[in-house]
Amino acid sequence: MKKALLGFLVFFAANKIFAQESDIAINQKMARDIFKELIEINSTSKFGSTRAAEAMAARLKSAGFDDSDIQVIGPDQQHKNLVLRFRGQGKFKPVLFICHLDVVEALPMDWSVDPFTFLERDGYFYGRGTTDIKNDDASLIANVIRLKKEGYKPNRDIIIALTADEEMGNANGVNWLVTNHRDLINADFCVNPDGGGGDLKNGKPVNMAIQTSEKIYVSFRLEVKNKGGHSSLPVKDNAIYRLAGGLTRLAYYDFPVRLNETTRKYFEGIASGESDQVRTDIMAILMTPPDTAAARRLQTSSAYYNAMMRTTCVATMLSAGHAENALPQTAQAIINCRMLPDDNPDNVMAILKSVLADDQISIIRLNTSFDAPLSPLREDITGLVQQISSVMWPGGRVTPIMSTGATDGRYLRRDGIPVYGISGMFGDMDDVRAHGKDERIGVKEFYDGVEFMYRFIKALSSDKTDEHQKPE
Ligand SMILES: [Zn+2]
Repeated sequence: MKKALLGFLVFFAANKIFAQESDIAINQKMARDIFKELIEINSTSKFGSTRAAEAMAARLKSAGFDDSDIQVIGPDQQHKNLVLRFRGQGKFKPVLFICHLDVVEALPMDWSVDPFTFLERDGYFYGRGTTDIKNDDASLIANVIRLKKEGYKPNRDIIIALTADEEMGNANGVNWLVTNHRDLINADFCVNPDGGGGDLKNGKPVNMAIQTSEKIYVSFRLEVKNKGGHSSLPVKDNAIYRLAGGLTRLAYYDFPVRLNETTRKYFEGIASGESDQVRTDIMAILMTPPDTAAARRLQTSSAYYNAMMRTTCVATMLSAGHAENALPQTAQAIINCRMLPDDNPDNVMAILKSVLADDQISIIRLNTSFDAPLSPLREDITGLVQQISSVMWPGGRVTPIMSTGATDGRYLRRDGIPVYGISGMFGDMDDVRAHGKDERIGVKEFYDGVEFMYRFIKALSSDKTDEHQKPE
C-alpha cells in the first residue's frame, strides 16, 4: 500500500472515531439536559405533571415533530399527559411506551441534598425521580429527538405517553387516556419502563427484568357481631375470641402454589445463582405437582419467592370492643390479598370462608376486582431485549417477572393491550432509593440505560433488527 493512501486511511479512520465520539457526547449531553430539566420541575401531586408535559412538548416541537402529533391533554389543568406520535411506515400496529411524569413527595429537610435540584456528584445523578422514573422519561424524549435528527423512519408508529398521577392514582393518566383517548394510544403492545430495569450486585449487572404481569390487589373485611354485656359476667361466646380463632387458622394457611408462564421462567432463570438447597427447592416446585415441603422452605427463606408462587392474604388491621369494661359487640379485621393474575376474588373469598371455618365471621369484599391478565411472553419483544442486553451487559441474565405490587400497566392489560416492563436502567439491588431519601442513579447507568432504549426502540421499529444490536 502506498504511504499516502495509508496516511489517508488512518486520517479517515481517526476522523470517523472522532465523529462517533462527538456524536456520543452530543447525545449524552442532550439526555442529561432533558433529565435535569425534568428533575427540577417539581411534579409531586401538589404541583401535578402539566409543567413537565409542556416542557417535553416544547422540546419535541423544536426538534421538528409536527404540532398535530403532540398532545398535552388531561382531565384538568394540573394533571396533563404528553402523547407523541412518531409517524412510521405503517407496516405493523404501533408500539406504545408509557412512563409517568409525577414523583413521590420529597421533603428537603429529610434529604442531605435538595431533591429538586439536579446534582451530579461522585458518579451519581441525585434528585427526586432519578430512578422513578424521570430517568426513563428523559431517555424516551432524548431518543425520539435523536432518531428524528438522524432522519430515522420507523416501520411502525411509535407512541410515547408521559403520564400523570401514577403515584397517587386520583387522576391517573394511563387510566384517563384508556377511557377518553383510546385511539391515541391504541397499540400492538406497550412498553412500561417503570415495571422493568436491571439489578446491580456489588456494582456488577446481574439481572434484567421483563415484567409481564402483576398481582391483583383485593381486601376483605371480617366481622363478628355479639350481643355483648358486662365484662364482670363473661361468657365463652366472645366476638374477639371468635375472630382471633379464625385469624389464627388463616395465619397457618397457605394458598396453593401455582406457577404461570412468567413465574416458571423466572424461577428457572434465577435457580442457578442460588445456594444448593434453594436451587434444589426451586427445582422441586417447578415439578408437577409442586413439592409442598420445598415450597415451605422457600417461603421461609424469602417473602418474595413466596409472593411469586401463590396468592397471598394477610391480616393488616384489627379493631374490636367499645369499652374496657364491656364485652365486645363487634370485632373486625382487614385482610389484604394479592391475587395471582389468573385468580379471582370469588375464589379467594370461598377459600377464606373455609379456612376461617366459622359462620359467625362475615366476610365483605372491599374493592371491585381488577381483571388484568398476564401478558404472553413474545419472542419478538423478549428476544430483542436478550440480544441487546447480551451485547451491552454480557454475562447478565434476563428474566421475566410478575410484580407483587401494582403498576400503570394494569389499565392497558385490562383493556387488551399486553404490557412489558422493560428498561435498561440498572440500580444497586441492595440500595433502592425510589420513594426514599437521596434518590440517585449512577451516571454510567443512566447513559447506558438511554443507549439501551435507543437500540430497543430502533429494533422494535425497523426491519433489519440485527444491524442495530452491534456494539458502537
Ligand atoms: Zn414509578
